Amino acid sequence: MKRMLSAIKPTGQLTLGNYIGALRNFVKYQDDYEMYVFVANLHCITVYQDPKQLRKNLKDAVALYIACGLDPEKSVIFLQSDVMEHAQLGYIMACNTYLGELNRMTQFKDKMAKNETGLTAGLYTYPCLMAADILLYDPDYVPVGDDQKQHVELTRDIAERFNNRYSETFKVPEPLVSKVGKRIMSLNDPLHKMSKSEGNDKGCVYLLDDLKAVRKKIMSAVTDSVGIIQIDQENQPGIYNLLEIHSALSGESKESICNRYQGKGYGELKAEVADIVCGELEKIQSRYNEIISSGMIDKILEDGANKAHYIAYKKLAKVQRKIGIEINKK
Ligand code: ATP
Ligand code: MG
Repeated sequence: MKRMLSAIKPTGQLTLGNYIGALRNFVKYQDDYEMYVFVANLHCITVYQDPKQLRKNLKDAVALYIACGLDPEKSVIFLQSDVMEHAQLGYIMACNTYLGELNRMTQFKDKMAKNETGLTAGLYTYPCLMAADILLYDPDYVPVGDDQKQHVELTRDIAERFNNRYSETFKVPEPLVSKVGKRIMSLNDPLHKMSKSEGNDKGCVYLLDDLKAVRKKIMSAVTDSVGIIQIDQENQPGIYNLLEIHSALSGESKESICNRYQGKGYGELKAEVADIVCGELEKIQSRYNEIISSGMIDKILEDGANKAHYIAYKKLAKVQRKIGIEINKK
């Protein structure tokens, strides 16, 4: 069975973008692949997090993974920092990554371009830790949203470089970006990605949002003055985003939705999208509440960390032998 690995970093509450672009796909894949999914808590702290809030976000993320359909019997679910090999291999990966490569990462470049202050070294080197996260487990595929593709490509470069330098060690993984829903945009600023860390709550639907608030956010989504429901991402990015959300959740193609909406107004489309999103969130939220009150999370994380550690331990030992930092082992 081929293996897949992915993660989400809960720097805040998980969003509809995370669900459509990532989480929902993990659930689909878990029947056909050996699935490793972790909560990337080390990546969260590249930007300061209030400890109490962070703890809550991490727990919520695990509960949401399961509420969205990840099955701990089928998938290995764990917390990144419970498997300490991630940080150690992350350091080794940083020693095999060039500054030029990190300087080219768009996420970092964007922050520099905006003259953001207080950027940490951890944020700069996070692609190295991400390479370690992936390469520890030799996955065949890494399912990600569009924004993370560049990081998986860097991971491939680092793996190939390491394999050439020290002999075959890592499987070179492929990023897997789904066709529909790879980049859900902000509802009130459809030229920017829906993102939990941008502080734009109006444009962002959180999986645990009150459903009335969700409906309101969707009904007030920014559109355009064209007045026709058609597929035109360049001139009607807001409408395109609504069609994308609809299609990703309902399975109906964007073309078919547009055909049904010939001669109809934006308000009707928004109402239908709101119904679909709220229907999906209602199911997720009710399962989330059961999971939180069941107290099952600790045991799931403990089992997951044991299973993940078994693989990560062997891989790190192999890497350390190859690079020559061990003394008594050949
Ligand atoms: P941040 O803004 O802090 O980076 P994020 O919501 O992008 O948060 P990540 O942990 O970086 O969260 O991403 C988790 C996964 O969700 C990744 O696979 C990413 O590509 C996907 N993802 C995030 N936002 C979206 C979006 N708006 N549309 C589709 N996929 C997304
Ligand atoms: Mg992100």
